[in-house]
Amino acid sequence: MRIVLVGPPGAGKGTQAAYLAKNLSIPHISTGDLFRANISQGTPLGKQAKQFIDGGELVPDEVTIGMARDRMTQSDAVNGFLLDGFPRNVTQAKALDASLGADGLALDAVLDLEVPEDEVVKRIAGRRICRNDSAHVFHVSYNPPKTEGVCDVCGGELYQRPDDDEETVRKRLEVYHRETEPIIDHYRGQGLVVTISALGKVTDVTERAMEALKRDAAA
Ligand code: AMP
Repeated sequence: MRIVLVGPPGAGKGTQAAYLAKNLSIPHISTGDLFRANISQGTPLGKQAKQFIDGGELVPDEVTIGMARDRMTQSDAVNGFLLDGFPRNVTQAKALDASLGADGLALDAVLDLEVPEDEVVKRIAGRRICRNDSAHVFHVSYNPPKTEGVCDVCGGELYQRPDDDEETVRKRLEVYHRETEPIIDHYRGQGLVVTISALGKVTDVTERAMEALKRDAAA
């Protein structure tokens, strides 16, 4: 299956993508994670992306589309993938459509995670992520680790993403509404959008998502 996950920052895309990718046996491809890996390794791409990420802006399309395409053409992605954070605007969506189309492929579904804005802000403010694996996500009040600052899963150090501060979150939300939301209409025109509520327990949201994808595949 080839799936795109959309939703505002804090909707739980990364958390859900990790579970869904495992359930569906496809790789989880997160452009945010790819950028953060490049930044921590100090690559030229990371240096280019950092200023945009720190400001809550989108990294330019020329950089992002090439990076996403490279990752999608790796051998583990031949039978499908779950895209998290890409595409993030209509230009990227059209580039993705064209590059899949050139290989005779197409997306199967666009899973839209819906969550009210006040919930998003609360979720992001308390979010703590493991340095070893970005799928290990905690929240200081909703899902606290057993030991403060330490990942329950692997013992890694938990940190707050630098772009999770309030001012940058507001900027990211504004960018989401302006740039990313229009891709939902773009894909609605192709009959691909499946919307679910991202409220409630992580496992309930995963179950809801799996059922919605199954219903969609059967339709
Ligand atoms: P995320 O981890 O998906 O929240 O992404 C973190 C940041 O990486 C975003 O706020 C953007 O600055 C950048 N980023 C991630 N994916 C994209 C994309 N598809 N296009 C442009 N910028 C992106």
